[in-house]
Amino acid sequence: MQYRNAQVIVDLHAIKENIQLLKSQLPRKTEIFAVVKADGYGHGSVEVAQAALAAGASALCVAILEEAIILREAGIDAPILVMGYTDPAFSGEAEKLDIQLTAFQLDWLEEAKRHITQQLSLHMKLDTGMGRLGLRTVEDVSVFLDAVDDPLFNVAGVFTHFAQADAADDAYYRYQEAHYRELIQPIKQRYQQSIIYHTGNSAASMQFPSDMYDAVRFGIGMYGLYPSIYLRDHPPFELKPALSLTTQLVHVKQLPQGEMISYGLTYETKADEWIGTIPIGYGDGIQRRFQNFDVLIDGKRMPIVGRVCMDQCMVKLDRAYPVGTKVTFIGLDKEDRITLEEVAEHLGTINYEVSCLLTARLPRRYHN
Ligand SMILES: *Cc1c(COP(=O)(O)O)cnc(C)c1O
Repeated sequence: MQYRNAQVIVDLHAIKENIQLLKSQLPRKTEIFAVVKADGYGHGSVEVAQAALAAGASALCVAILEEAIILREAGIDAPILVMGYTDPAFSGEAEKLDIQLTAFQLDWLEEAKRHITQQLSLHMKLDTGMGRLGLRTVEDVSVFLDAVDDPLFNVAGVFTHFAQADAADDAYYRYQEAHYRELIQPIKQRYQQSIIYHTGNSAASMQFPSDMYDAVRFGIGMYGLYPSIYLRDHPPFELKPALSLTTQLVHVKQLPQGEMISYGLTYETKADEWIGTIPIGYGDGIQRRFQNFDVLIDGKRMPIVGRVCMDQCMVKLDRAYPVGTKVTFIGLDKEDRITLEEVAEHLGTINYEVSCLLTARLPRRYHN
């Protein structure tokens, strides 16, 4: 039962369209792995995963084992890759649920063997310049290949991750791409059977589709969000944003000049003003830095005034509106749209972070 009128609305049709759009740009053989980590970037991992698979994604990627288990428990039987580090003590759990893990350490393989009964599928991670996880040299790759050559392991894939594929300057992307080609040489020699080679995230697959291998890991773009402001301003194709955040006015009053609004007395009415109260705050992920940013009411922008509280905030209205009037924090209202990119710029961060920070207290509603 939902008692409050405040919700994240996710347009699953937009997610499907974004997948189909990317697919039309990629080489025919290149599959799409839908990245649904962090509860689908705040959109809801199970619903997004189902929509993505229906639209042609062939597998799912998450960051941690818990996220993979949630998908399995929801009845999803597509391949799932955990891209981050999993404690090898839990490789038996992964094996049981047919969840693929990421591996790049010799000790990890040794420990994992003690927990696997038949066979665990792995993707090898190569660090081509992100400096996060992975094997960094041809020599290390060769040593790892000897260690992983065991019936308990099935090497299903080999991947790397780009540190900068979302900018105008593609030099570092080119450097990492060349390094990947070099690092996979010994793997290609060792394995004749099909291994899934994958490099690109949203930025790389959107900017350099013809460079992509057997699959791409499509995250932010699937949600209709741009990987960077550069890509928003130079989009190879137009994405459709899936997420809206709406609520309502729960109180409206007219105040004379000189009245204070909210904690810390940071806002004082300058004349007779209509002030609305909105039942949403930083406990929902509407951070305090939203102060002075706008919401949409009746298709018009109106500023959030005074400090954002944990559960509520106030807005300066251009006239009286009835209680129950719709308030849009993110999304389209009549002619105007507030995008997550715009919110992120105001908050001094990136769209990824803003959608991830919308808390579970905001119910998610899904449209097809
Ligand atoms: C999060 C992540 C992705 C997806 O990145 P987007 O920029 O959201 O497309 C791909 N690969 C790895 C390893 C990741 O951690």
